[in-house]
Amino acid sequence: MKNIGIIGGGPAGLMAAEVLSAAGHRVTVYEAMPTVGRKLLMAGKSGLNLTHAEPHGNLLARFGPAMDRLKPVLDAFTGEDMRHWAAGLGQETFVGTSGRVFPVSMKASPLLRAWLARLEAQGGSVLTRHRWLGFAGADGGTGVSARFDTPEGPHIHQFDAVILALGGASWPRLGSDAAWVPWLEAEGVAVHAFRPANCGFDVEWSEIFASRFAGQPVKAVAATSHGGTTQGELVVTRTGVEGSLVYAHSAALRDALERDNKAALMLDLMPGREASRIARDLGKAGSKASFANRLRKAGLDPVKAALVREFSSEAGRADPEALARRIKALELPLVRPRPIAEAISSAGGVAWEAVDEKLMLTALPGVFVAGEMLDWEAPTGGYLLTACLATGRWAGRGVAEWLG
Ligand SMILES: Cc1cc2nc3c(=O)[nH]c(=O)nc-3n(C[C@H](O)[C@H](O)[C@H](O)COP(=O)(O)OP(=O)(O)OC[C@H]3O[C@@H](n4cnc5c(N)ncnc54)[C@H](O)[C@@H]3O)c2cc1C
Repeated sequence: MKNIGIIGGGPAGLMAAEVLSAAGHRVTVYEAMPTVGRKLLMAGKSGLNLTHAEPHGNLLARFGPAMDRLKPVLDAFTGEDMRHWAAGLGQETFVGTSGRVFPVSMKASPLLRAWLARLEAQGGSVLTRHRWLGFAGADGGTGVSARFDTPEGPHIHQFDAVILALGGASWPRLGSDAAWVPWLEAEGVAVHAFRPANCGFDVEWSEIFASRFAGQPVKAVAATSHGGTTQGELVVTRTGVEGSLVYAHSAALRDALERDNKAALMLDLMPGREASRIARDLGKAGSKASFANRLRKAGLDPVKAALVREFSSEAGRADPEALARRIKALELPLVRPRPIAEAISSAGGVAWEAVDEKLMLTALPGVFVAGEMLDWEAPTGGYLLTACLATGRWAGRGVAEWLG
C-alpha cells in the first residue's frame, strides 16, 4: 500500500482522494483551513451549478486554448458523468432552463457531507489546519517530502506521491491564496500569473448614478464584446458592473483591457425591438416631453433610462433615431477588472508545458497537480467544477498508474 498526500481539500483534492482510496492506497488530505471545501460551500450559496447539459463538444469548447489539453481529461469525466457521480452521493440533479445542472437541493453541504463520509468509509483521512509550506528537499529515496505547519508545530511528511490541489487565486479568504506560486517556481515549475476570471469591472459612474442605482439589476439586455453576443442580466454596483452577463464576457474584456488599455461592453437595452420601432415610440411622446418621459414612454425602465442618460450627450438626445440607435448599441466603457480577490475564479496557474499528460510536474516526478491551480479558465455554467473534478480524478488515476 502506497502513502499518498493530497494537499488542498477542495473539490479537485477530494476527487483525487476518492479515486486513490477506492484503489486501496493510503490517502491523507492536508487542508490549511479548519474545514475542507469552503469554496465549494460558498458556490452552493447561490445554487450549486455542478455542470452543463449541453453537448460534450460545446462543453469542451468553453475551455478555449486549454481545450486540447483538457479534452482527454473531460472525455473521461463528462457532464453526464458528473450527474451520475452526484447521484451516487444521494444528490439527484436537474437541468435548469439555461441548460445548467444543479442538485435538487441546490446546496453543496449535503453533497460535501456524503462525499466526506464515503471518503472516510474508503479509509481516506483528512487533516485540517495542516498548511503545506513547500518541499523539504530530497529524502535520499524516490519519495516526496513536504513541510507542513500543523497545530502541533512544524512537520515533515514523506510520501510515495503527492497531488497538489491548492486552488486558484480568487476569494483567498476561503483558503486558495496562491502562496505556493514561488515555492513551485523555485523548483523550476512554470506558473503563469493569476488574473481575475468571471469578474466584475469598474465603470466611472457619475456620483448621482452610482448612489441611485447601485445594487439594481439591468434585466433582459444583450451584451456584445470580442467574446460574442449573449443575452441576460447584469447588476450595477457602486464601482461598476457585475453579474452573469458581465462574467460571460469578462475574459474577452479583461484581455482587451490588458492589450489596449481600454474596453467597452456594447449593450442592447431593448434586444426584442427594432431601432425603427423604438424611434417611433420616442417620437410619440412629443417634443415638449422631458427626456426621462420620452424614454419611459418608449418602454425603458428607470435604470436603463439612467444608463442612456449617463452615456449620451445633451445634443444626442433630441433626435429619436439617433437616440434609438444609442439604446440598441450603448457603449459601456470599462476601466479595469475588479480585484482577483472578488472574482468567481482565476485564469493563470501552473503552465501546461510544466505537466505531462498524467498531470505530473515534469520538474518534480511524483508530484501531480489538479483543479483551478492549473492554467485554464472557463465561464460560469458549471464548467469550473466539472474541470476541477475531472482533473482531480485524472491526477488520481495518474498517480495510481505511476506508482504501478
Ligand atoms: C462565490 C463563488 C461561486 C462559485 N460558484 C460555482 C458554481 O456554481 N459552479 C462552478 O462550477 N464553480 C463555481 N465556483 C468556482 C469553484 O468553486 C472553484 O472553481 C472550485 O472550488 C476550485 O476547486 P479546487 O479544488 O481547484 O480549489 P479550491 O476549492 O479553492 O480548494 C483548494 C483548497 O486548497 C487549500 N489550500 C490552499 N493552499 C494550501 C496550503 N498551502 N496547504 C494546505 N491547503 C491549502 C485551500 O484552503 C482550499 O481548501 C464558484 C466560486 C465562487 C468564489
